Amino acid sequence: MPERLNFSLRSDESDRLLVAKFSPNAPCPCGSGKKYKKCCAPFHKGAQPKDALTLMKSRYSAYAAGESGYILKTTHPDNVDFSEDRAAWKRSVDAFCKSTAFLGLEIVDVQEGVEEAYVTFTAHLDSGDLKERSRFVKEEGRWLYHSGEFVPLS
Ligand SMILES: [Zn+2]
Repeated sequence: MPERLNFSLRSDESDRLLVAKFSPNAPCPCGSGKKYKKCCAPFHKGAQPKDALTLMKSRYSAYAAGESGYILKTTHPDNVDFSEDRAAWKRSVDAFCKSTAFLGLEIVDVQEGVEEAYVTFTAHLDSGDLKERSRFVKEEGRWLYHSGEFVPLS
Protein backbone atom coordinates (compact mmCIF):
# COMPACT_ATOMS: atom_id res chain seq x y z
CA MET A 1 0.00 0.00 0.00
CA PRO A 2 2.29 2.76 -1.27
CA GLU A 3 -0.07 5.64 -0.46
CA ARG A 4 -0.17 4.89 3.22
CA LEU A 5 3.61 4.52 3.32
CA ASN A 6 4.06 7.91 1.68
CA PHE A 7 1.72 9.55 4.12
CA SER A 8 3.53 8.24 7.16
CA LEU A 9 6.91 9.32 5.81
CA ARG A 10 5.63 12.83 5.25
CA SER A 11 4.15 13.07 8.70
CA ASP A 12 7.40 11.84 10.32
CA GLU A 13 9.27 14.46 8.37
CA SER A 14 7.08 17.34 9.53
CA ASP A 15 7.32 16.20 13.17
CA ARG A 16 11.09 16.21 12.90
CA LEU A 17 11.04 19.73 11.50
CA LEU A 18 8.99 20.97 14.44
CA VAL A 19 11.34 19.35 16.93
CA ALA A 20 14.37 20.75 15.14
CA LYS A 21 12.86 24.24 15.15
CA PHE A 22 12.30 24.21 18.91
CA SER A 23 15.15 22.52 20.61
CA PRO A 24 15.20 22.97 24.41
CA ASN A 25 18.10 25.40 24.05
CA ALA A 26 16.41 27.64 21.48
CA PRO A 27 15.29 31.10 22.64
CA CYS A 28 11.74 30.86 24.03
CA PRO A 29 9.15 31.99 21.46
CA CYS A 30 7.43 34.17 24.12
CA GLY A 31 10.31 36.65 23.89
CA SER A 32 11.53 36.37 27.49
CA GLY A 33 15.14 36.11 26.35
CA LYS A 34 15.46 32.82 28.25
CA LYS A 35 15.98 29.40 26.73
CA TYR A 36 12.78 27.53 25.90
CA LYS A 37 13.66 24.78 28.40
CA LYS A 38 14.02 27.36 31.22
CA CYS A 39 10.91 29.35 30.28
CA CYS A 40 7.71 27.95 28.76
CA ALA A 41 8.70 24.30 28.20
CA PRO A 42 8.01 23.30 31.85
CA PHE A 43 4.40 24.52 31.49
CA HIS A 44 3.97 22.48 28.33
CA LYS A 45 5.16 19.49 30.36
CA GLY A 46 2.61 20.03 33.15
CA ALA A 47 3.70 22.88 35.47
CA GLN A 48 0.94 25.36 36.40
CA PRO A 49 1.39 28.99 35.29
CA LYS A 50 1.12 31.17 38.39
CA ASP A 51 -0.81 33.97 36.69
CA ALA A 52 -2.74 34.81 33.54
CA LEU A 53 0.17 36.60 31.87
CA THR A 54 2.39 33.53 32.29
CA LEU A 55 -0.38 31.38 30.84
CA MET A 56 -0.82 33.76 27.90
CA LYS A 57 2.89 33.73 27.05
CA SER A 58 3.12 29.95 27.43
CA ARG A 59 0.13 29.52 25.09
CA TYR A 60 1.86 31.65 22.45
CA SER A 61 4.98 29.50 22.87
CA ALA A 62 2.86 26.36 22.62
CA TYR A 63 1.50 27.48 19.26
CA ALA A 64 5.04 28.24 18.11
CA ALA A 65 6.41 24.92 19.34
CA GLY A 66 3.47 22.86 18.08
CA GLU A 67 2.35 21.88 21.61
CA SER A 68 -1.30 21.62 20.64
CA GLY A 69 -2.18 19.47 23.66
CA TYR A 70 -1.34 22.42 25.92
CA ILE A 71 -3.65 24.71 23.94
CA LEU A 72 -6.54 22.28 24.43
CA LYS A 73 -5.75 21.77 28.11
CA THR A 74 -5.70 25.51 28.91
CA THR A 75 -8.86 26.49 27.00
CA HIS A 76 -12.00 27.16 29.05
CA PRO A 77 -15.04 24.98 28.17
CA ASP A 78 -17.02 28.17 27.39
CA ASN A 79 -14.54 29.19 24.68
CA VAL A 80 -15.94 29.18 21.12
CA ASP A 81 -13.17 26.86 19.94
CA PHE A 82 -13.72 24.32 22.73
CA SER A 83 -14.87 20.98 21.34
CA GLU A 84 -15.77 17.64 22.85
CA ASP A 85 -14.24 16.11 19.72
CA ARG A 86 -10.71 16.58 21.00
CA ALA A 87 -9.06 14.68 18.13
CA ALA A 88 -10.60 16.97 15.49
CA TRP A 89 -9.88 20.07 17.61
CA LYS A 90 -6.25 19.01 18.09
CA ARG A 91 -5.88 18.40 14.34
CA SER A 92 -7.11 21.91 13.59
CA VAL A 93 -4.70 23.45 16.14
CA ASP A 94 -1.86 21.31 14.72
CA ALA A 95 -2.70 22.52 11.21
CA PHE A 96 -2.61 26.15 12.39
CA CYS A 97 0.72 25.62 14.19
CA LYS A 98 2.33 24.00 11.16
CA SER A 99 1.06 26.52 8.61
CA THR A 100 2.01 29.62 10.63
CA ALA A 101 5.36 31.17 11.53
CA PHE A 102 5.33 32.79 14.98
CA LEU A 103 7.65 35.78 14.77
CA GLY A 104 7.25 37.40 18.17
CA LEU A 105 4.95 38.53 20.95
CA GLU A 106 4.37 41.98 22.47
CA ILE A 107 2.40 42.42 25.67
CA VAL A 108 0.41 45.66 25.47
CA ASP A 109 -1.59 45.68 28.70
CA VAL A 110 -2.20 43.40 31.70
CA GLN A 111 -5.03 43.59 34.25
CA GLU A 112 -4.61 40.81 36.79
CA GLY A 113 -7.44 40.02 39.18
CA VAL A 114 -7.86 37.24 41.70
CA GLU A 115 -10.10 35.09 39.52
CA GLU A 116 -10.27 37.03 36.28
CA ALA A 117 -7.61 38.74 34.19
CA TYR A 118 -7.23 40.50 30.86
CA VAL A 119 -4.11 40.54 28.70
CA THR A 120 -3.86 42.62 25.54
CA PHE A 121 -1.12 41.55 23.18
CA THR A 122 0.12 41.75 19.62
CA ALA A 123 1.23 38.47 18.07
CA HIS A 124 3.50 38.81 15.06
CA LEU A 125 2.72 36.07 12.54
CA ASP A 126 3.93 35.59 9.00
CA SER A 127 0.31 36.13 7.91
CA GLY A 128 0.29 39.53 9.64
CA ASP A 129 -0.01 41.03 13.11
CA LEU A 130 -2.87 40.00 15.34
CA LYS A 131 -3.89 42.16 18.30
CA GLU A 132 -6.19 40.64 20.86
CA ARG A 133 -7.59 41.38 24.31
CA SER A 134 -7.83 37.99 26.00
CA ARG A 135 -9.92 37.15 29.04
CA PHE A 136 -8.65 34.56 31.50
CA VAL A 137 -10.49 33.01 34.41
CA LYS A 138 -9.20 30.97 37.32
CA GLU A 139 -11.06 27.76 38.03
CA GLU A 140 -10.12 25.28 40.75
CA GLY A 141 -6.75 26.96 41.07
CA ARG A 142 -5.90 26.86 37.36
CA TRP A 143 -5.86 29.79 34.94
CA LEU A 144 -7.72 29.12 31.68
CA TYR A 145 -8.09 31.07 28.46
CA HIS A 146 -11.75 32.06 28.33
CA SER A 147 -12.20 34.27 25.27
CA GLY A 148 -10.66 36.99 23.21
CA GLU A 149 -11.68 39.92 21.11
CA PHE A 150 -9.67 41.36 18.27
CA VAL A 151 -8.41 44.91 18.70
CA PRO A 152 -7.79 47.07 15.62
CA LEU A 153 -4.08 47.55 14.91
CA SER A 154 -3.19 51.17 15.51
ZN1 LIG B 1 8.61 31.52 27.34
